[in-house]
Amino acid sequence: MAELIDGKAHAKDLRETIATDTAELVAAGTTPGLAVVIVGSDPASQVYVRSKGKMAKEVGFNSFTHELPETTSQDELLALVEQLNNDDAVHGILVQLPLPKHIDEQRVINAISPDKDVDGFHIKNVGKLVIGEEGFVPCTPLGCWLMLKEHVADLSGMNAVVVGRSNIVGKPMALLLLAESCTVTIAHSRTRDLPALCRTADILVAAVGRPEMIKADWIKPGAIVIDVGINRIDAEDGGRGRLVGDVDFAAAEAVAGAITPVPGGVGPMTIACLLRNTLQAARHIGQPKA
Ligand code: NDP
Repeated sequence: MAELIDGKAHAKDLRETIATDTAELVAAGTTPGLAVVIVGSDPASQVYVRSKGKMAKEVGFNSFTHELPETTSQDELLALVEQLNNDDAVHGILVQLPLPKHIDEQRVINAISPDKDVDGFHIKNVGKLVIGEEGFVPCTPLGCWLMLKEHVADLSGMNAVVVGRSNIVGKPMALLLLAESCTVTIAHSRTRDLPALCRTADILVAAVGRPEMIKADWIKPGAIVIDVGINRIDAEDGGRGRLVGDVDFAAAEAVAGAITPVPGGVGPMTIACLLRNTLQAARHIGQPKA
């Protein structure tokens, strides 16, 4: 039976460390500030934003939430980003995605100061990750990497397969594994014989968004499986339904060496890593000027 990689426990430990470090920074005169901007009223985004604000306060940060209507223009949003860039009390800026269709997401992301880009999506931080320079790393892959590193100190030489090539998960995850000297393959919707490819993986990261797509017989016995997927399965009786990952957890557990559950795996680590990045930004930018 696979060892469970408990993301909830990892995230709790990380938040405790962040709270301790924050208290020290506050005593030295800097309270980390996280600004979260949401445009429109997507219910899932609203839940994420609320929980980010709540967790930020719990570790001792100042939390600033900007809720803008769906009709907000790109120029208005860019003006807010500029205002936050110039606000000394704000060390981290997160613009919740997706944005409404009439707004160019990448333009808005690239308007955030790279030093406050705690989501790690700014083109400069992406570039730093590619060339191996220190910068902000996107929170979800960062959380996966931290959990992996606690599980196996030396990942070098391992075969890693990342299923999914998005800018926010798949690609940065692959770069982090490459930096650990894994032999990395990125799979996507055009990959031929995905099951056979997955069976080569010592580390298998699933970031697809398809419920329980990865079956137990796609997994190499003893492999470490990181399931990023969050998929809601509707309840047949019209109730709340349940969340499942991209991996068929119940069956995969019998084959894998270690596995993250959904929920309680990668999800909690994502928000903890946002706090980690914000603390790093506050340390770097330092005390507000009088
Ligand atoms: P995207 O939709 O941006 O990317 C999905 C990727 O999966 C694409 O690269 C796509 O390939 C690939 N894909 C789709 N179908 C298949 C298939 N049949 N076989 C192989 N590859 C396939 O998703 P995200 O990266 O944003 O998110 C992935 C999952 O992770 C989602 O469930 C999301 O909810 C979850 N997530 C969880 C987070 C957390 O905190 N735990 C944070 C962010 C995301 P192609 O490029 O060819 O289209």
